[in-house]
Amino acid sequence: MESVAFKCPNCNADIKFSAADQKFNCEYCGSSFTEQEMKEIAASIEAQAANRPEEAVQTDSEFEEQTNIYHCDSCGAEIMADENTAATFCYYCHNPVVLAGRVSGEFRPKYVLPFQIDRKTAIGHFQDWCKKHWFLPKDFLNAGQQEKIVGLYVPFWVTDVNVNAEMDALGKNVRTWTSGSYQYTETKEFAVARKANVVLKGLPADGASHIDDDLMEAVEPFDYQAVKPFAMQYLSGFMAEKYDQDFSAMFPRIQKRAVQASDQLVRASMTHYSSISVTRSDIKVMNTTWDYMLLPVWFMTYKYGDKIYEFALNGQTAKFVGTPPLSKGRVAAFCTAIGLIAALITLVVGVIVK
Ligand SMILES: [Zn+2]
Ligand SMILES: [Zn+2]
Repeated sequence: MESVAFKCPNCNADIKFSAADQKFNCEYCGSSFTEQEMKEIAASIEAQAANRPEEAVQTDSEFEEQTNIYHCDSCGAEIMADENTAATFCYYCHNPVVLAGRVSGEFRPKYVLPFQIDRKTAIGHFQDWCKKHWFLPKDFLNAGQQEKIVGLYVPFWVTDVNVNAEMDALGKNVRTWTSGSYQYTETKEFAVARKANVVLKGLPADGASHIDDDLMEAVEPFDYQAVKPFAMQYLSGFMAEKYDQDFSAMFPRIQKRAVQASDQLVRASMTHYSSISVTRSDIKVMNTTWDYMLLPVWFMTYKYGDKIYEFALNGQTAKFVGTPPLSKGRVAAFCTAIGLIAALITLVVGVIVK
């Protein structure tokens, strides 16, 4: 008997049929499909593939031969750099890194979004931001710290998502008016039903477990119009993190964002009602396609107390994100000063009252 291996439409891992619930369940990304859904998805993927031009097979040899990998023994980060760019410290924990050899071809990105913001401009943005934050520790952006600002290509899985969304709701319109000495209230109720196929393009999620996911979401958006097929020259002078979370590990994040975005879209279509209460919502990611690409981020960490603070500047748009470490000494000094001013005011008031 011939056995057919089915692939998960969301993460491409092998998917198994479970007799217990009569569904195809993916152990890797947690997706679950009925047989009917699997058939429909297969048909739609086939139709999409027929419309896509054949892609030239990329050679990995240049990438393998010219890309070094550096390992950080302290935090485990793995940093890729071209052979002319020596990495000496870890972009994340600032400890020394050791050359660990060449990188294997599977880590060759398909696309890269080249840096638009140079180092000098990035430091300028950091400095402007520092001026707006009063209680930063003294050495926060001294010369030594500035050297730790790294132009880092972060590995991203940029994903197109196909979502089926069904939603039932009770819509209400309420009208009140007065006639004579009576006040009337009219409530109209509507059964609202929505069925939508939502296509979301270019949802990004980073595949670097070191870097805070919220931070990476906060520096979005990136404009993918400027994306180029990967070539070694873009790596020159920059570092790149080697991904340690593959697409199936990262899929739950994409799924959450896709479901949230589809939910909002469907709700936004329920206008004309003064109130809406959703009685049933069934939103499901049906299939995904993704590209592995490097996106440009100026990155800096700062260790204060036991905590590592992360800062990121979008290397394309200069959007800046980070939470400032508050110097306890400086906050205390400021509070004392405020206290002093308050005491003086009381004193002055006291004098006037007398
Ligand atoms: Zn899966
Ligand atoms: Zn490290």
